[in-house]
Amino acid sequence: MTGATKTRDLRTGRPLWTDSPGLGLPIRPLTRSLSVDVAIVGAGISGALMAHELSQDHSVVVLDRRPPLTGSTMASTALLQWEIDLPLTTLAKQIGTAKARRAYLRSRRAVDDLARLVAKERIPCQFKTKSSLYLAGDDHGHRALEAEAEARAAIGLDSRYLGPAELRDRFGIERTGAIVSTGSASGDPARRAHARGARILSPVEVTQAVSDPDGVTLLTNVGHAVRARSVVFCCGYEFPKAVPTPGARILSTWAMASKPRQRCPAWLREMLVWEASDPYLYLRMTGDGRLIVGGEDEESADAIQDREKLKRKCATLAAKLEALLPGVAFEMDYGWAGAFGSSATGLPSIGPVETMDHTWAVMGFGGNGITYSVIASQVVAAEVRGGRDSDADLYRP
Ligand SMILES: Cc1cc2nc3c(=O)[nH]c(=O)nc-3n(C[C@H](O)[C@H](O)[C@H](O)COP(=O)(O)OP(=O)(O)OC[C@H]3O[C@@H](n4cnc5c(N)ncnc54)[C@H](O)[C@@H]3O)c2cc1C
Repeated sequence: MTGATKTRDLRTGRPLWTDSPGLGLPIRPLTRSLSVDVAIVGAGISGALMAHELSQDHSVVVLDRRPPLTGSTMASTALLQWEIDLPLTTLAKQIGTAKARRAYLRSRRAVDDLARLVAKERIPCQFKTKSSLYLAGDDHGHRALEAEAEARAAIGLDSRYLGPAELRDRFGIERTGAIVSTGSASGDPARRAHARGARILSPVEVTQAVSDPDGVTLLTNVGHAVRARSVVFCCGYEFPKAVPTPGARILSTWAMASKPRQRCPAWLREMLVWEASDPYLYLRMTGDGRLIVGGEDEESADAIQDREKLKRKCATLAAKLEALLPGVAFEMDYGWAGAFGSSATGLPSIGPVETMDHTWAVMGFGGNGITYSVIASQVVAAEVRGGRDSDADLYRP
């Protein structure tokens, strides 16, 4: 731990949001077999957005083996970004320029759509529109970032390259370059509106799914079945056995939060900061003035269980923060770890399950899983209604 970082009373292992006021959604046990239009497996942010969308014109139940929100969603640091883990220029080399451009524009639209939904449903989640500051690092240096800003600007995305002098003058940061972009946001991921009409059944584990020409029967650990015309698996990184996930990897990642009213440069309240390094560092502030710092991803699904590693990872994050913003005396309050999905392109996997009729699966890979949860609710809802989203091909498993 660095000299400037105080760690007294560290609530090790518990994500910040576990102590959000007003948590908890009405849940019911599954006491008899039932039949609905749509059954959603998983009550995280993906399941919530899916239920919100589909309950407009369908009867919907959401099933979860745990209380709602206790999966990856509770651990999220909730930077709501349209910038994909892979820069536009790199993504274009992997999937072609036209598709990469569409993926970026769709993510940009998703953040606006989420802002509209939060305003319409009056969700008290501290949603705040922010700009982002993407710093040159060991993965992508200043020349790559300059080219990236040009590629984004060419499709109308508001991204501007900053050289080292401007970066130092405006932000007091010593790096070889950065990109400033508008149109991202942040929020509290554990707060959400009740999807109108959708019931949450918990604790209910779905143990098997059997499809036939008319629908799907979900067998559960409580002995009652749920019959649905359509089923959507929103199981986060707990991939259902029947769902293929080619190229997907599960990583461990770490985050920590300061006490409220952390002293920080004023500009940080309006910015999400992240860097083009591997492993990378990111930071943002909450409405009550906590500073959240995260990163240090590792290629392991199990490292999140290691308490000693959590302390070491928090120490590394604190040291990197101090190197980036030397004036910030970080007062740590919470430190936690979580599982995180990754794909070769940074794009999520959203689409029908090939081996089972009437079923879809949603896996929001990458650092912007919540943005992808928004897109997933739109893509799957269009197909459940018998239509087709024009960007569905970008996210096919
Ligand atoms: C530390 C950390 C920081 C992150 N930061 C960000 C960020 O800044 N921005 C961002 O956009 N994303 C971030 N993410 C990723 C984001 O949190 C996830 O993409 C998102 O929460 C996934 O939501 P979900 O609803 O798909 O999955 P989950 O929240 O994991 O929900 C899945 C649910 O499915 C249930 N389930 C699984 N299998 C079954 C079954 N068989 N029967 C019944 N229930 C089942 C589970 O119990 C769970 O509740 C972060 C993740 C971590 C860990």
